[in-house]
Amino acid sequence: MPWNIKNWRRRHILKSEPIPDDSWGRVVARLGFLRGLSPDELQRLRECVALFLHSKQISGAHGLVVTHDMRLLIAAQACILILDLDLDYYAGWVEVIVYPGEFLRHYEYVDDDGVVHDLAEPASGESWLGGPVILSWEDTAAAEAGTGYNVVIHEFAHKLDMLNGEANGFPPLHAGMSQRAWSDAFSAAYAEFQLEVLDAEADKAVAPDFFLPYDAEPCLDRCLDPYAAEDPAEFFAVVSEAFFEMPLMVKGRFPAVYEQLALFYRQDPAQRWEES
Ligand SMILES: [Zn+2]
Repeated sequence: MPWNIKNWRRRHILKSEPIPDDSWGRVVARLGFLRGLSPDELQRLRECVALFLHSKQISGAHGLVVTHDMRLLIAAQACILILDLDLDYYAGWVEVIVYPGEFLRHYEYVDDDGVVHDLAEPASGESWLGGPVILSWEDTAAAEAGTGYNVVIHEFAHKLDMLNGEANGFPPLHAGMSQRAWSDAFSAAYAEFQLEVLDAEADKAVAPDFFLPYDAEPCLDRCLDPYAAEDPAEFFAVVSEAFFEMPLMVKGRFPAVYEQLALFYRQDPAQRWEES
């Protein structure tokens, strides 16, 4: 870290609020997608977690008591996305709210007659523009099952997407990245995936196979969550989950998208998996 006021404060936090060895060891053991991280990367992740916990308030809702290990598990998953970016990518909001399980997400729906309806649907996670991240603990804890499903990575990918306004699958790209290359890669993959979902829905008999349509190895229990076909913002969030949880599948199935994500996150998890 070069010397400046921000880094001086960060060093002070790391010194005064370190992550204990035993609880850090438990978190690393629980999260399979951390495989292949070098000792240096794990150390930087641990520091990111300490700084994240200092700057964010993680609180339980509906009676859920959030323990130290739970906070670490959430922070470690949030920090994998910004391991080679900066904690400032999560600046401008402080709250993470954790429900015991799925919660009701309220939204407005305007029908054809212009009547506004207040609707609610069960959700496992939600990210507000400039506001909190909301998580279901049941779904957060499921990350250790290694199914490729990861609600924390999903919601924090939305947060990165929202750095330049409403989530739309187009986060602010780094200098040197091409908007055109991002757009071409994601548009083509999204259109292709939408067709696959429509095909699978049209023929429910083959739907079980829909989760294993790819030859790329290894595809874990399932491949890309069909929820990715919902809209471009969800596609970016779901494919970001898979980028960290099933990088070889993403690289094999959507190579151009993988390349853009590797540039954006400045990480190459497929290489880590191949070498580990
Ligand atoms: Zn989402």
